[in-house]
Amino acid sequence: MSLQTDDCNFPLLDVQGLKKFFPVKGKGLIESFRREKGQVKAVNDLSFQLYEGETLGLVGESGCGKSTTGRTILRLTEPTEGKAIYKNKDIFKLNGKALRQMRQELQMVFQDPYSSLNPRKRIGHTLEESLAIHSIGTKQERTERVMEILYKVGMKLEHYYRYPHEFSGGQRQRLGLARALIVNPKVVISDEPVSALDVSIQSQIINLLKKLQNEMKLTYLFIAHDISVVRHISDRIGVMYLGNIVEEAPTDKLFESPLHPYTKALLSAVPIPDPQIKKERIILKGEIPSPLNPPSGCVFHTRCPHVMNICKTQTPMRKEMSIGHSVACHLYE
Ligand code: SF4
Repeated sequence: MSLQTDDCNFPLLDVQGLKKFFPVKGKGLIESFRREKGQVKAVNDLSFQLYEGETLGLVGESGCGKSTTGRTILRLTEPTEGKAIYKNKDIFKLNGKALRQMRQELQMVFQDPYSSLNPRKRIGHTLEESLAIHSIGTKQERTERVMEILYKVGMKLEHYYRYPHEFSGGQRQRLGLARALIVNPKVVISDEPVSALDVSIQSQIINLLKKLQNEMKLTYLFIAHDISVVRHISDRIGVMYLGNIVEEAPTDKLFESPLHPYTKALLSAVPIPDPQIKKERIILKGEIPSPLNPPSGCVFHTRCPHVMNICKTQTPMRKEMSIGHSVACHLYE
């Protein structure tokens, strides 16, 4: 894995001012007559860059917009506003053949791989179908490619003939990976890929992801709510809160010297394996506010232990404090 923060390196994926708002409609029998009551601002003016060969982790509490970010970039849901530049083209403007090509190069791994595997089809056939959709190879070549990818993700060749329900959670996640990787993508967006697994299986899957990244020269956007899991795989981490990144830094730097009060609270909950070291847990008051009605100014001000008057009215801009380490907080202005 490589970390590239040098200005002369262009990002492989450049997300600029991404917004995804979902309309909330009032009551009524016929949907088209229902009035729009408001909007859930799931992702609100989010920008980040993803460099070739690296892993960028996106971390935050459930409901912070990290999964919507991944799904919107891949056009599984359409954006409200913004750009996602991949190889000099805006993904949000692609259609037809160019959109299909992008979908081959950017793949997604889901938390529940069962949902992306057809329960009525043998695994081998499901995987071959992914190749057929993109018109890759002859029938014979597709079968060979399936055998090869099954081996790569640590499955046995006999698994080709089995159905999804015959596998354990860990095996299904390996198959989810196989389904994403079989078309030879450049970027893989993993949405909570290990959250549903036991801790011992989690580390096996993380190690597999790292191994495959090296072998297949992959670039990862790794989305998860558990910052200790994200730490193990990410070169850089973006901490998300209510639709935007509040702090972004190389992984070691984020853990050594977090700046944003929300990041500090997240890290204070991470256990340290040394009983000699005592650290104070920062307990945040209240729940994450609703993205339907986000707080004014800094969206974290309703829970922040350092809140000042300015925080309630003015939105802090994300500023770079040192190379690759940026934060959005009035404490650093
Ligand atoms: Fe806290 Fe204010 Fe910083 Fe927001 S801007 S994190 S409320 S200190």
